[in-house]
Amino acid sequence: MSQIRPFPPTELIDRADEEEALRLAPAPDLKDWVIANYLTVEGELYNPDHDHIAEMLHDNEEFLSFAWASSAAVAKKRMVLGQCEKVMFNQGGWRKARQEQQMRDWYGFVPIYLITIDASFCEQATDRDFCALIEHELYHIGVERDDDGEPLYSDMTGLPKHYLAGHDVEEFVGVVKRWGASENVKRLVEVAKQAPFVSDVNISKCCGTCVIS
Ligand SMILES: [Zn+2]
Repeated sequence: MSQIRPFPPTELIDRADEEEALRLAPAPDLKDWVIANYLTVEGELYNPDHDHIAEMLHDNEEFLSFAWASSAAVAKKRMVLGQCEKVMFNQGGWRKARQEQQMRDWYGFVPIYLITIDASFCEQATDRDFCALIEHELYHIGVERDDDGEPLYSDMTGLPKHYLAGHDVEEFVGVVKRWGASENVKRLVEVAKQAPFVSDVNISKCCGTCVIS
């Protein structure tokens, strides 16, 4: 199964340039591609860590949606290329109604989780960088697990208990330099020494072969 990875609509970036403003657009093709390649057992980039997402989407397509942003967001002086959020409109009234209407106009429903990807990055990114960014955002949808690593299910809903997961490792280079690596940093370093599990062949099969050099 050879496919081409989804690219953002060029119209989105052109129009954002014209308006000198950030624009957003729904990305249903990106969702289909993620399901086919990461969340399906036969998929080239399949990862059982995300089975709990696949299970949710199987029952309820409203669990997760994707969007393109015309350019990166800047948060805490860092460029944000992707974002995973739990869609919660805390305010009430017309503001909440307006935000929910936006979601319904885009997707036909208000999703529980929303992953937004920087379209201008994706236009230029290598297939490997693009695929890694998507997987990074998927890992932000965490599920509570028991001591054996099995997902925990809610007694009320019978569904996996999801939450917005933080990063496994967040550290300053200066701290490691001065104080040494924490257990989490050591674990990351050990994994980084191994060859990546996903090969260029896997990537070429779901992204097309044009970008692999
Ligand atoms: Zn992140």
